[in-house]
Amino acid sequence: MTKPLKIAVIPGDGIGQEVMPEGVRVVAAAARRFGIAIEFDPIEWASCDYHERTGSMMPSDWKAQVGGHDALYFGAVGWPAKVPDHVSLWGSLLKFRREFDQYVNLRPVRLFEGVPCPLAGRQPGDIDFFVVRENTEGEYTNLGGRIFEGTEREIVIQESVFSRRGTDRVLRYAFELARSRQRRQLTVATKSNGIAISMPWWDERADAMARGYPEVIVDKQHIDILCARFVLQPQRFDVVVASNLFGDILSDLGPACTGTIGLAPSANLNPERNFPSLFEPVHGSAPDIFGLGIANPIAMIWSGALMLQFLGHQAAHDAILRAIELTLKQGPLTPDLGGTATTAQIGAAIEEIVLRQP
Ligand code: ATP
Ligand code: MG
Repeated sequence: MTKPLKIAVIPGDGIGQEVMPEGVRVVAAAARRFGIAIEFDPIEWASCDYHERTGSMMPSDWKAQVGGHDALYFGAVGWPAKVPDHVSLWGSLLKFRREFDQYVNLRPVRLFEGVPCPLAGRQPGDIDFFVVRENTEGEYTNLGGRIFEGTEREIVIQESVFSRRGTDRVLRYAFELARSRQRRQLTVATKSNGIAISMPWWDERADAMARGYPEVIVDKQHIDILCARFVLQPQRFDVVVASNLFGDILSDLGPACTGTIGLAPSANLNPERNFPSLFEPVHGSAPDIFGLGIANPIAMIWSGALMLQFLGHQAAHDAILRAIELTLKQGPLTPDLGGTATTAQIGAAIEEIVLRQP
């Protein structure tokens, strides 16, 4: 018998605690159906409750506790009434991303039948692409400083960091993903007209990488027009790769174009599997609806499907995606989509389809 996959289950705060059981339920159902052995390891830290009890978000040996796991399945973190957001975020999620070198942030963007689209006239099928964001360097650094603070002469400098290794590895991931898809199309976000040192170099690295992928159709687009096209012509996109800052913007804009935040999943990947990757919904802890049992669990469930796919179980991923599609089409639906169903009813409906569909 093969060794079971070991998955750390980290619900975190707020609705993370409500959607996680539904995610685990569906992942476990898919595992049963496809004969995948999984061992779930429940983790109570990386939450503001834990911080309240102990004074920190995670125990000092957190890396030893989960570093050998196959994946981290993560709900949401943040409860500003107990712990300031920058403390909870930097004390948990951002530590995982950094210490586990999760240099790809992957977000599927897809419009489903049955989900009202904020963009007029869009049909399901019009929007179906991936945003690949560089997750470890680029514009998000602490390098720089202020001089002449508080005076008229005040100057502030913040540097960006683009390494060849860091850039090439995220580009390679994006090219590989584009090559695996039917349309084989890759859009490279840039701003080489205005940001005249790092972005022309980023373009050069993309050109160099493209030589190894002659079957991939590559186009470079400036970030400003690219944002406009996400809204005006989303059908143009297949895979989009971007630096940390540009990718941050695109990976919120994309899902916003496809309806509720309750659907959008994400993956923080260490593609080589030297460290565990982390799978989480895009949404936060949503204190405003916590305790009502009405949070949409689909983003959590879809993130679980991405996790199974990343760990090599494509069929299990596909079965969950089909079950999500069908549920969105025929109901039940949670209130964010105009329905009256509870979080648990959606989880049960999707589980049922995963187990019974032909
Ligand atoms: P973050 O923690 O990422 O900074 P945030 O705290 O600003 O995010 P969210 O917690 O994602 O925001 O909540 C934003 C809004 O979306 C809230 O009104 C919340 O109720 C709603 N929302 C978020 N997730 C869901 C969900 N799964 N189902 C239904 N509504 C949701
Ligand atoms: Mg929040």
